[in-house]
Amino acid sequence: MTATRIDGKAYAAELRRNVADQVAALKRDHDIIPGLAVVLVGEDPASQIYVSSKGKQTVEAGMKSFEHRLPADASQADLLALVGRLNADSSVHGILVQLPLPDHINESEVINAISVRKDVDGFTVANSGRLATGQRAMVPCTPLGCLMLLRDQLGDLSGKEAVVIGRSNIVGKPMAALLTAENATVTVAHSRTKDLPDVVRRAEIVVAAVGRPKMVTGDWIRPGATVIDVGINRTDDGLVGDVDYDSVAGVAGAITPVPGGVGPMTIACLLANTLTACCRANGLPDPEGLTL
Ligand code: NAD
Repeated sequence: MTATRIDGKAYAAELRRNVADQVAALKRDHDIIPGLAVVLVGEDPASQIYVSSKGKQTVEAGMKSFEHRLPADASQADLLALVGRLNADSSVHGILVQLPLPDHINESEVINAISVRKDVDGFTVANSGRLATGQRAMVPCTPLGCLMLLRDQLGDLSGKEAVVIGRSNIVGKPMAALLTAENATVTVAHSRTKDLPDVVRRAEIVVAAVGRPKMVTGDWIRPGATVIDVGINRTDDGLVGDVDYDSVAGVAGAITPVPGGVGPMTIACLLANTLTACCRANGLPDPEGLTL
């Protein structure tokens, strides 16, 4: 069997078109332009690339992009003051603080200073609590993108056996919450899980968010399973995921490639969340096809 390749790049392009169409309608009908503020502290090369690409795609979708670059030695107080100003700025509907922050900054204090309504990354305690308790939330972009791909591939996820590998606050935990809300039977595996290959072998849905190149191999996979590879690992062979694509593609029913799978969905979902936050801030209905 050779698995279907899930084309996240194409799906993300369609999602961005949908966002851009609804942004244009918002401007035409209500004279409102969604705005996204991105805060970058320091000069981490990967973060700089992410931030530039977020800014570019925000503008391409017809929204306003505000970039705030602070030096690596910016203080906690500077950062909190900036977040406070952005919270109060009515032209800013979404605020994203690029992680990781330098060691002297208390990351969680800064993230939780972001207004819940502008928290387009969905990383505040308030938003993760809302997601965990089934209330309307801003859903973290990467798991949201994974869920969109899974729904597109499988339709109803109810009763499916899902294994999420990784329990980070950014990917693993919100992914598990989303799959639970979809009525899947969810197992969260992590670094202390015993007999991980046996656990993964039960899964009809596998989401790998670990950060270990090609860890998941074909002999771990239940025939026909759908495999979502969140991993982004820079190796001497270039960018690879957490899944060994070649061996898994021989067993799985469908699989996301790296690059071109989950990665492009993340920024597309950020744009979608910014539009959603803007609609909610203005008392308008949620945009179509962009929320759960
Ligand atoms: P993290 O380091 O915060 O968490 C990794 C998780 O993997 C932990 O919960 C840990 O328990 C688990 N783990 C570590 N070693 C393991 C092992 N041997 N067996 C089983 N579990 C193990 O990472 P993260 O932020 O969740 O990111 C995970 C991966 O996803 C990274 O490669 C990251 O670059 C990538 N990522 C991609 C996107 C995207 O847009 N595609 C977004 C976020 C993260």
